[in-house]
Amino acid sequence: MAEVRIEGLRKDFGKATAVDELTLTVRDREFLTLVGPSGCGKSTTLRMICGLERATSGQIYFDDQAVGHLPANKRDIAMVFQSYALYPHRTVEQNIGFALKMMRVPRKTIDGKVHAAAKALGILDLLDRKPRELSGGQRQRVALGRAIVRDAGAYLLDEPLSNLDAQLRVHMRAEIKRLHAEVARTFIYVTHDQVEAMTMSDRIAVLSDGRLQQCGTPEEIYERPANRFVAAFMGSPPMNFLSGARRFGVSVPDDAEVGIRPEHVRISPTFVDGYVPGRVFVAELLGADVLVTVDVGDELIKARVPAPFDAGVDSTVYVGIDPAKIHMFAAADGRALP
Ligand code: ATP
Repeated sequence: MAEVRIEGLRKDFGKATAVDELTLTVRDREFLTLVGPSGCGKSTTLRMICGLERATSGQIYFDDQAVGHLPANKRDIAMVFQSYALYPHRTVEQNIGFALKMMRVPRKTIDGKVHAAAKALGILDLLDRKPRELSGGQRQRVALGRAIVRDAGAYLLDEPLSNLDAQLRVHMRAEIKRLHAEVARTFIYVTHDQVEAMTMSDRIAVLSDGRLQQCGTPEEIYERPANRFVAAFMGSPPMNFLSGARRFGVSVPDDAEVGIRPEHVRISPTFVDGYVPGRVFVAELLGADVLVTVDVGDELIKARVPAPFDAGVDSTVYVGIDPAKIHMFAAADGRALP
């Protein structure tokens, strides 16, 4: 079992700092996701945890053992990469069992573990195939199978779904989450996709420019973002930031910026006290909801409202916000205000 504790971790590449004083504890058997935009330092962090990259300073502990000096193969971890890196000439069965064979695990034990993993992943009938005879999602499962037979304390996954089409990604998202529950091990997952982070994780660590912005449960991150960056990055469609919040009847300090999520913006076809007139800029059907963008003169506000929405483009509507649902951020540094 493994708790992964990261203390003051830093990685410089020449003059550029990829990871800046990162301190974070991943609990035993937790599913923790590192999320952030491209270049924020997610992969570098994961590579330092698994031993493929040496930290400039700081330390990593597995339970209470410092592992910074250990090579990757001595760290009791298994890693799944974005480019599954399967051996093309070996069968699925050989691919999944390869690491165990290298470790000179007895043949019978390998067979047992490979079958158990293939069963958990629903690929028992594919064991004799070669990677080229598999779909993207099936290859992805083989890559996962290769990691889970390893019986490691922690599993590190670097954007494992990024090569899959949208539908398969949604399917595999659920499969990985289930797999985590079944194997009951520590998972550290890297993605730039905030929806993946929200749907799969026990906790999310949001990074920007190599720095930890916030670490918390998906609910905490969504409902109480620590700063403007987290508020803007997490949530789809993203939060509105209003330059003229006072006209909605919200009292705002001078040095604050107001944010409101689209699901907390109201639209009425007729005047309502406290609502602001605007014109429908565009309305996009999302399924059960409609995302309506309203031009209120000097800015566009997005509202997520239940379908159907009947007002056409350019028709006049009235926009209101729920004052209990607003977020306020300091204009100077973006930190959330109480
Ligand atoms: P992505 O989602 O695009 O993979 P990321 O968040 O995983 O991004 P990293 O790959 O960790 O980001 O990179 C963090 C920063 O470090 C980037 O600015 C990147 O250009 C830089 N970097 C990463 N690896 C190296 C390297 N080997 N040499 C120099 N700079 C590097």
